[in-house]
Amino acid sequence: MKRVPILYVVIPCYNEEEVLPENTKRMKEKMTSLIKNKIISPNSKVMYVNDGSKDNTWSIIKQNHEKEPLFTGITLSRNRGHQNALLAGLMTAKEYADVVISMDADLQDDINAIDQMLKKYLNGADVVYGVRKSREKDTFFKRFTAESFYKIMKFLGADVIYNHADYRLTSKKVLDEFSNFKEVNLFLRGMFPLIGYQSDIIYYDRNERFAGESKYPLKKMLNFAWDGITSFSVKPLRFICITGFLILLISIIIMIYSLVQKVLGNTVDGWTFLSISIWFIGGLQMISIGIIGEYIGKMYNETKQRPRYIISENLEEN
Ligand code: UDP
Ligand code: MG
Repeated sequence: MKRVPILYVVIPCYNEEEVLPENTKRMKEKMTSLIKNKIISPNSKVMYVNDGSKDNTWSIIKQNHEKEPLFTGITLSRNRGHQNALLAGLMTAKEYADVVISMDADLQDDINAIDQMLKKYLNGADVVYGVRKSREKDTFFKRFTAESFYKIMKFLGADVIYNHADYRLTSKKVLDEFSNFKEVNLFLRGMFPLIGYQSDIIYYDRNERFAGESKYPLKKMLNFAWDGITSFSVKPLRFICITGFLILLISIIIMIYSLVQKVLGNTVDGWTFLSISIWFIGGLQMISIGIIGEYIGKMYNETKQRPRYIISENLEEN
């Protein structure tokens, strides 16, 4: 029987002043009831990570911390994006906690699923993935793009859990191992399955954002998907080779065809054919070089080994 675990809930926040009051209210209810029922230790906390917000997010976090020891926070020296903010939170929280749950600030993830996650943890799981039941509340566009993304990832051979975002429970043991993953191109949801240990899944309903706007506009979403693919699969490189090979075959056929035409004396007015093929091959080569460049760019970033985040203040240490 494990002792009553200390739970830290890590919540990255970027310009979330509109949702924070409701978030803290609901988190307080949840945490108080879990503590009262002796499911988690009274030393459990909610750790907000301020990801270089431009609004009052950090001052709200600090005020909450002063009023309630349940709330704590860290702030990054500048905006580093969701994945880095989350990593900073996880790596800080693991120093104080036995088990950590990561969650978005906007209350899209159903906080009642925490109970189920903890139950799985107490039954021995070291990682519990929150998977959304349906995407009815998402726009058609978001649903379509997100689901295609998971399918492409799977096709490319990356072990991602379908419809799992970053609502996840991880034990301290897993996070300690995770700290050895030094990569700069972060795609956390794809990295945890690499660690192993016993894992489990829970299903939850995903709600609409409580307030404010999505901090993931289309451009960030596409960037994130592209990072996910190129950080987890080298298959695009293989596709280049296969395409090159196919084109070689086609060009042999075309060569034979043109030689036969020449022997038969049909002098072809080949302008259309030539210009089309020049453009086509040119484009293909550009794409191929571009994809290779992507990976080289990634290697460039990884070899620099820059810190992935800088924490400028940790309320736990005050
Ligand atoms: N977020 C962050 N840094 C950023 C962008 C977003 O910490 O640069 C946080 C944001 O505050 C939220 C979570 O990441 O808690 C998910 O963002 P959002 O809800 O806007 O994304 P969506 O649900 O629309 O995909
Ligand atoms: Mg959201």
